[in-house]
Amino acid sequence: MAPRHWVLWRQGPRVIVYCLASEVVAVVLTLRPSPIPVDRRTLSILVVLLVLGVVQSETGRRVERIRRRVSGTPHINMTSVWTFAGVLLLPPLLLAVLVAGLYAHLAVRSWYRLQRVPVSRTVSNAAIIVLSCYAAQSVLRVSGFPDVRVALSHSWAGTFAITAAGVTFFAVNALLVLPARREVGRTPEALFGTWSDNGLEVATLCLGALNAMALATLPGLVGLVFPPLLLLHRTVLVRQLEVAAHRDEKTGLYNTSGWHALAKRTLAATARQGGTFGLLMLDLDHFKQVNDTYGHLAGDAVLKAVAQSIISAVRGRGDAVGRFGGEEFVVLLPGITQPDIGAVAERIRRAISALQVPAGGLSITGLTVSIGIAVYPTAGTSVQRLLDAADTALYHAKATGRNKVVHVADLV
Ligand code: GH3
Ligand code: MG
Ligand code: MG
Repeated sequence: MAPRHWVLWRQGPRVIVYCLASEVVAVVLTLRPSPIPVDRRTLSILVVLLVLGVVQSETGRRVERIRRRVSGTPHINMTSVWTFAGVLLLPPLLLAVLVAGLYAHLAVRSWYRLQRVPVSRTVSNAAIIVLSCYAAQSVLRVSGFPDVRVALSHSWAGTFAITAAGVTFFAVNALLVLPARREVGRTPEALFGTWSDNGLEVATLCLGALNAMALATLPGLVGLVFPPLLLLHRTVLVRQLEVAAHRDEKTGLYNTSGWHALAKRTLAATARQGGTFGLLMLDLDHFKQVNDTYGHLAGDAVLKAVAQSIISAVRGRGDAVGRFGGEEFVVLLPGITQPDIGAVAERIRRAISALQVPAGGLSITGLTVSIGIAVYPTAGTSVQRLLDAADTALYHAKATGRNKVVHVADLV
């Protein structure tokens, strides 16, 4: 693709400057002199790490294909197993070649073909990894162990230096990726990923350190990282299958079974503590007309927008939003009190009526929703009873003019 068509230029100026700057800095730092020489030994380590990295990502392709079918999340990146080993064993120049080789392979085999990840993004990701590697190497250098073989003869000091390098790699990488993202969320999870994303990163770094130890002492043992690595990849798949089994694909909300499981747990906990929780049942008004007027795809866009506005309107600890198929949603509000729940429902109703959903040049507005409320334990002591009660209230809201909130306790 010609440079002027690069996706990079379509990012905001902040992202463009940051990506280019990090790439330039990565190149400059690659060319600095190093205490570890480029010689036959380091070259052969580079080849071994490159070959292992490529073999691992090829063997993991089947898992990735299944994973992609159930989860839209990007490719699981396990390259730290090889790059962190490179941090401990290679001079900057060869380390950069390792990162570039692994990322080029992933880009060609997985990212570009299957997910259309633009080349500029792969390059800036690779530059950020190179910088994280150099940060980790500078920790080793400051600790007096630029070469891991020296660290091996200083048991505790060496252990400490390698651990500090791993922590630095992890932290610097987490911080460097932030400005490169077009949108940055505000919650810790949106900023730094989920616990399981980070757990995977820590696990691959640990394997990377062991990998380097093997290469520095008994290189024949380097194959030992493979079985745990492949199992680790599968574990992530299993975890994502679990999440997918409880999610509604269209909106990302809980599906019926996921929401039910959560509601049952909340009910049991609330019953033990003698507390209370609320339940909202929502149904969009005249949604069939939206489909009939704008088409099914626009209808889907409306469902997604509604899901987002419900999520932003609740956002309390433990609040769970589910989609019960069609244009029906449920909200679980643990620990909420009688007057507050009406306010939450009103907030959702108003948020939906203010929605403007873009649909093929047009903008869909004037959406309304009817909401039924039931509160535990007055409206029922089982999830099914509470849902029935909320449904009765919702039916009443529909029957008396729609676009309103009805509390089942107000019906006689
Ligand atoms: P009411 O105010 O009484 O709720 O009227 P309504 O039109 O919203 O209710 P009705 O149950 O008659 O219609 C629901 C519509 O929702 C019909 C169905 O085609 C549409 N629908 C259900 N699931 C989906 C979906 O996943 N995507 C889209 N676009 N439409 C859906
Ligand atoms: Mg409806
Ligand atoms: Mg309906």
